Amino acid sequence: MDALDILTDLDNVIPFFQAIFSADEHKVIGYEILGRYRTHNSIESLGPFFMDEGIPEEYKQEVDHVVLTKALDKAVELDKDVLLFINRDADLLMQDDGEVFLQMLLSYEEKGISLNRIVLEISERNYKGQSDHLDHLLIYYRTYGIKVAIDKMGSDSSYLDRIGELAPDILKIDLLALRSTSTSHTYQNVLYSLSMLARKIGATLLFENIEMVYQLQFAWKNGGRFYQGYYLHYPEEQFVDRHIRKTTLRNEFHEFISYEKKKLTGIFQLTESFQSHIQELLGKYRKYSTYEELLEFLTIELSDVAFRMYVCDEDGFQKSENIFKEDSDWILQSHYKNKNWSWRPYFLENIIRMRNEKKGILSDLYSDIETGETVRTYSFPLNSHDYLFIDLSYNFLDKMDVLLN
Ligand code: CA
Repeated sequence: MDALDILTDLDNVIPFFQAIFSADEHKVIGYEILGRYRTHNSIESLGPFFMDEGIPEEYKQEVDHVVLTKALDKAVELDKDVLLFINRDADLLMQDDGEVFLQMLLSYEEKGISLNRIVLEISERNYKGQSDHLDHLLIYYRTYGIKVAIDKMGSDSSYLDRIGELAPDILKIDLLALRSTSTSHTYQNVLYSLSMLARKIGATLLFENIEMVYQLQFAWKNGGRFYQGYYLHYPEEQFVDRHIRKTTLRNEFHEFISYEKKKLTGIFQLTESFQSHIQELLGKYRKYSTYEELLEFLTIELSDVAFRMYVCDEDGFQKSENIFKEDSDWILQSHYKNKNWSWRPYFLENIIRMRNEKKGILSDLYSDIETGETVRTYSFPLNSHDYLFIDLSYNFLDKMDVLLN
């Protein structure tokens, strides 16, 4: 595809629209506008044209302009709450301080496309200018109601610092890398962290490149409110019926919810059975003179369940040695005594919960710092000031089927 062919044939430069669906209503809430070029026998993406650094910027701006004009002309007919996601390269946008783009949007405002329906997907990939200049422009745009999205999240984590500065309205997370259930746990954890960050800064999560039901489930489970991808809708020249996926999404979400509830019920039941089991064991081994002695008693009963146990007080100071299962032997590790664990996430929250409810707690899944294994910890109030911690082995959790997040 030659750049000049395209520039001399702007009639065949057209917008395509990819629908974006919402989790709360299962309907189309917006479209991402994508540039296409119609040849005599096919439709080609203009992606390579825009990415090509050999093509002068004014050519790209012209093509951008044509795609957007045609798209907005069409979008006039849409419901007045449908969002329009527009991709813009920061470098191209800043050429004229973003004025042409803004004036164009304003000219469509009187035709019924209010600016608070515009979501600017800003790409800083080629941006060479100062980021505070760009930030000023985005702040200015926002005074008109334009929303800002950062896309391709998940494929490039270097954006993390920029997220804090831009405080985007929408974070678009790319699920391309999540193509199979075997995708590394690490990657899933990174996405989980992004979802936590989005929650903290009040950004809406949009998961894109959803191509399989598994990715949709992942997006749903990780706080995704908006979804986009071939699994839901291929980009098209026309707008679609907003309710096109309503029934299928509803049914699929029903499956996700059932599955999740079943899993959570399993975790709840395991917590309850631990509660009675540990209570019973503490009754049985009432007579101990040191916590180490108690832990040694417990290893007799919990040998296939745990790989590490210890006792902490309510401020997180370790009151016992560690008892640790090395191969098939339990060994005491004295150097852990008196260490403080109050800095660990959720530690004090969990202590307060146990103290108030007088019940044990099963933690979420996490990677053990020392063994690297995926584990959960069961903690239990021993008395009014000390708490027993039982790190559960991977094999046991696997057998109980409560390993999944
Ligand atoms: Ca995009």
